[in-house]
Amino acid sequence: MKKRPLSRRDFLKLAGVGTAIVVPGALGYGVFRSAQGEYPVEGSPYVENLLTEPLDGSVPILLIVNGDSPNPFGLYLGEILRAEGINCFHITDLSTVQAGSLEKYDIAILAETPLSAAQAEMFEAFVARGGRFVGMRPDSRLAPIFGWERSDGTLSEGYIKTESSHPAGEGIDPSTLQFHGAADLYQLAGAQTVAWLYTDRDTASEYPAAALNEFGAGMTVAFAFDLAKSIALMRQGNPELANQDVDGLNGVRTVDMFKGWIDLERIEIPQADEQQRLFVNLLSQLSRGKRPLPRLWYFPEDKKSVLIATGDSHSNPQPFIEQALEIVEKYGGHMTVYYSPQIVSDVGRAVRVTRFWLTDHVPVVSTVLGEEFGSPTPFVVEGWRARGHDIALHPYADAGLEQWLVYWKEFTGRGYGPVSETVRTHRVLWTGWMETARLQASYGIRMNFDYYHVGPSLQKPNGEWPNGHLIGSGRPMRFIDEQGRILNLYQQHTHFADEHLIPMDVPGWGGWPQLSAQEAVEVVKDLLNRSVKQSDFSALGGQFHIDPFQLGGDPAEKATVFLDGSLAYAAELGVPIWSAQEWLEFTERRHEADFKDVTWDANASSLTLSLIPRHEADSTLTVLIPAAHTDKAISALSVDGVTTPHSARLVLGNVEYVQVIVSTQAHTVKADYA
Ligand SMILES: [Zn+2]
Repeated sequence: MKKRPLSRRDFLKLAGVGTAIVVPGALGYGVFRSAQGEYPVEGSPYVENLLTEPLDGSVPILLIVNGDSPNPFGLYLGEILRAEGINCFHITDLSTVQAGSLEKYDIAILAETPLSAAQAEMFEAFVARGGRFVGMRPDSRLAPIFGWERSDGTLSEGYIKTESSHPAGEGIDPSTLQFHGAADLYQLAGAQTVAWLYTDRDTASEYPAAALNEFGAGMTVAFAFDLAKSIALMRQGNPELANQDVDGLNGVRTVDMFKGWIDLERIEIPQADEQQRLFVNLLSQLSRGKRPLPRLWYFPEDKKSVLIATGDSHSNPQPFIEQALEIVEKYGGHMTVYYSPQIVSDVGRAVRVTRFWLTDHVPVVSTVLGEEFGSPTPFVVEGWRARGHDIALHPYADAGLEQWLVYWKEFTGRGYGPVSETVRTHRVLWTGWMETARLQASYGIRMNFDYYHVGPSLQKPNGEWPNGHLIGSGRPMRFIDEQGRILNLYQQHTHFADEHLIPMDVPGWGGWPQLSAQEAVEVVKDLLNRSVKQSDFSALGGQFHIDPFQLGGDPAEKATVFLDGSLAYAAELGVPIWSAQEWLEFTERRHEADFKDVTWDANASSLTLSLIPRHEADSTLTVLIPAAHTDKAISALSVDGVTTPHSARLVLGNVEYVQVIVSTQAHTVKADYA
């Protein structure tokens, strides 16, 4: 698809052929050349160098993965830990683990892998001497340390139900929750059941899904299934449905991979997030008598949610984009407009860019051209960005992923570049299980809003239209591919979309649940309430198309009510309304910050640690320090040697935390317990 750029000679030839080129000709070859646009610079889509060196035990947790395991999802456990804010772990490969390095850590987490007898002995000895150990669908050689005995058979694509009476079950939704992949069946032999396996939504089995055990001087936790694989499949969809159009909505989209995969009776629950929280509850249990686990809060400051305001725009003229942005600004928010420029020839674009130039530089011309020519000029786009909004690319992929190049060229050729780092694809078309994600990551895109609640497949058999968490989550996490490679691209769900909820006379629009605009606002209010008041703690992606504003009349009225009503309620709850770019930047800052040198002075009951961000930034991160540890309560707190109040509290799962808001710079935090 890539074409050789036009040379100066080509340009001069063209300049002679007709009047269309006269004006750009007057501005010169430079304008003409830049109007041809650019193609993305391709790089590796993968996150490299995730393993830690040296293994010095300066953080409490060691994650052990096996690059040769038949289950390739081990590294995703690291993504889960960071999504949960447990940024205090090292990662190593099983082949290099030795007893000496293992001993330096409080808690070792072993990804699903077969073990040799010698490896199993090493882990057993670690636990016997007081180590804390977590196994994901562990090798049955380790059954004795987990306090269970292997039974024949497995249970696949079932459910788990947390024991609410167990301390690790505190703060976890007691409903049955889906898991994907296979669970091994075990009989208890001394362990405490934390969660049970269910064969379906309503039928209990006699087998544990997760169990806690004391062995020797140590403690263990085992999951009968692999949480990493289960959550990757829950979030990213069923690989067996890749490239299939099965959802009754024309086109192969992300949502196709969730047909028969998401239990619509459970879509209101962030099932993946709940199970991750259970995992962290168990880590907190294991940390008793060891170093307390510091954590980073999910959101900015003390917020309980973020609403990410986005709107797809299909070549809509400038005034209609402006209309939406002004509503967003009423509530102090910012918006990302995913913009599809109309594709034109190089010559046509040069003419257009020249008109842009005249409009931006010779104001009287804009009134002459304004009527027939409404695309935003680069000057207007720059102005929107200066107001904190984002104009990003909304590429078509109906003719294949190669179309990305056409849209990239058009967008940059018009002078709208550089292309932003977040994206939503037109019609959320999707190729392969992770092929689209790999392509986006290779083009430098770092957050994707293509997972999207839309279409007739999301109706329950009883006729209801549930809303919530198609991917089981309100958290951004990086993608993992079939081979277990982490992609440098965050997946953020779009939880609600006008085109799904509200019928309008707009081409390609669904409106299946037949809601009025006000009823659609109630859907958003419910999601916000669950996040802020019921501990769902979700970042909610919203789709507010620009197109209805251009159509005017009934569509414009409905779009206004939906956007205004949704944002008004977010503002009322104190939920920040952010552009996708702002959310990406916060997400990366939080993900990349590390806790280091976490030390616990047992005699003084004193915790010290450093927080080291990857880059300093004019923003904040919220550090969570356990308010109590090993039967003592926090009595004093300091940041960089300065005494700090420790009264701001937040309960997350089974832990009460002290909440400390710090600038995105290196800090030392000290907490004394008494
Ligand atoms: Zn679109």
